[in-house]
This record gives sequence, C-alpha cells and structure tokens, in this order.
Amino acid sequence: RKSVHQICSGQVVLNLATAVKELVENSLDAGATNVEIKLKEYGAESIEVIDNGSGVKEDNFQALTLKHHTSKLQDFSDLTNVDTFGFRGEALSSLCALSNLSILTYHKSANVGTRLEYDHDGKIMKQTPCPRQTGTTVTLINLFSTLPVRYKEFQRNIKKEFAKMVHILQGYCIISQGVKLTCSNQINKGLWKINCGSDQWEHITQGNIYPVSLVPNRISGYISQPDHGQGRSSTDRQYLFINKRPCDFPKLTKLVNEVYHSYNRHQYPMCVLDISLSQDAVDVNLTPDKRKVLIQEEKLLLATVKSSLVSLFAPRAS
Ligand code: ADP
Ligand code: MG
Repeated sequence: RKSVHQICSGQVVLNLATAVKELVENSLDAGATNVEIKLKEYGAESIEVIDNGSGVKEDNFQALTLKHHTSKLQDFSDLTNVDTFGFRGEALSSLCALSNLSILTYHKSANVGTRLEYDHDGKIMKQTPCPRQTGTTVTLINLFSTLPVRYKEFQRNIKKEFAKMVHILQGYCIISQGVKLTCSNQINKGLWKINCGSDQWEHITQGNIYPVSLVPNRISGYISQPDHGQGRSSTDRQYLFINKRPCDFPKLTKLVNEVYHSYNRHQYPMCVLDISLSQDAVDVNLTPDKRKVLIQEEKLLLATVKSSLVSLFAPRAS
C-alpha cells in the first residue's frame, strides 16, 4: 500500500534528472569543489553522488530526511533572499520514500565518518562508523521502486531519462565555476564511462562561441553567430540561468531561436545566458524542482533581449 508521502514524493522528484539535480545541488550547497556522479545502468540500478563538501553534522543525521527540514533557512525573511539551491527541505525526504537511500558522511566535528541507512519513512535503520574524508556520499538504489507504475515507465524510458539528466547536469557544470563535476555511467558491470563534466563545455564549443554581454551587468554569456557555422540542428546546447541558477525559461529560448532563425533558417544557436535580476524580482518557488521561474517585468526583459540580439547578429549577417 502506498503512503500519501510516497505519492507526494513522486511529485517532488519527477524523474532521473530531478533526483540527480537535487543531490548535486546539495553538494554545491555544502561547498563542494569536487562532485562525482556515478550511475549504474543509466541510473536504473543505482545513483551515487560523492562530494568533498562540509559533510553532515551528527545532530542533523535524523533531521535531514524529515519532510520540510532544511538547514539552509534561518527565518522567513531568508526566503526572499536565498543564496543556496535548496531551501524547501523536500528532496532527501522524498528520495527516501522513492528509493533505498543511504549516506556516508564525515564532518570535521566528528571523530570518524558514519554510514547511515534510511527506511522509506526517512527513519535511520542502521548507523555504523565508517572512515571517510570530509564530505558526503549519497546513494540511491532502485529509484521509483515504491511507485510500481512509475518504476516500469522509468525503466522503459531509461535512455531518454539519462539524456535529459545529462543536459540538466551540463547546466550545473557550466555555471559552477571552480567546481569539478563529473558524471559517469556503468553498464553491464563494464567501465565507468564519463558522459559529461565541467571541462566538457570548452571541448564541445571548441572556442567557437563568443562571449556576449547582451545587457551590460544584466545578461551575459555565450552565443554562436548565425554566419559562423556553429549552429546546431537541435536545441540541445542551450542553457539559461537566472542569478546563476539553471532554469527553464521557454519564452526566452524561443525568442533567441526566432531571432537567430531570421538570419539562419536552418539551425539553432548554441547559447549560455545568465540573467542577473534582483532577488525580489524573481520567484523560483513555483514548482518543487525550482526550474520554472516567474519574473517581474518579463515583457520588458524579453523586448530588451530581442533588440540586443538583433544588433548583435545584424552587422555580421550578410
Ligand atoms: P534542502 O536542500 O532544501 O535544505 P534537502 O532535502 O535537499 O533539503 O536536504 C536536507 C538537508 O540535508 C540539507 O538542508 C542539508 O543540511 C543536508 N544535506 C543534504 N545533502 C548534503 C550534502 N551533500 N552535504 C552536506 N549536507 C547535506
Ligand atoms: Mg536540497
């Protein structure tokens, strides 16, 4: 019998990409400079995120998997001024409800590391001392196995799920300067194969993508030029960030593609755009995964981007 919590958790963690994203965000929030993501069978068997962040303090061992527990907000006013990826305290509690979750962590305040196994209600089932360097490893086994219908669907679409996850992860690789992120996948007990990482971007673009400052101090990043042959046949290399938070902003992506298409009908640009907005002009709290954003003065923003793009492309297009 499924619990209400399990059903709700399935709305917080929608797919492989959300699960991995939540774990990676936690590592980044913990100040990690090295984050390793290891999947087995595209994530269908297991997902492991290993970081060298602060580690978890002992008094947080039980609380961290409780619903709405977060160590990242001190009071309500913090909510309008969040500088961490996480603040809702839903990810680990949901992941416990959806998989077999265990944590290996060491925080400098402890004598030794600890291995923790949680049940589906987020309670600690087993706690054993285990040496580890400072940081945290979170392991998920059999994601979605507690939701049989989703589980089947997940297994069936695993390669698509994996591709989507790689794209989302690549966004974090691009924006997390000074952090080494690597993702690898092991199939049929073979070698771990690296699928994306922080050093991949330059490799992908081979330097043929130009830094742009569309609106000084407001919108900056990289975009390929319509006449440069660096466009793509699909939108798979487009990344948007608001205040350095990876997000989906379909209206803006559509606009960029439309302007680009008026110079080059056959391709899509590669682009990376980071938009800086004051914290109170944007709301990322619309969906649990925080990828959907609501922006004050959205029309003005879109119009400004459009005219900047036109003047960026126009002199170059023949
Ligand atoms: P949130 O990120 O919104 O606070 P989560 O459910 O993602 O909620 O995580 C709950 C808590 O667990 C965090 O507030 C943090 O204290 C702790 N935590 C999770 N992952 C890590 C990690 N990799 N390193 C250190 N602490 C972590
Ligand atoms: Mg989190």
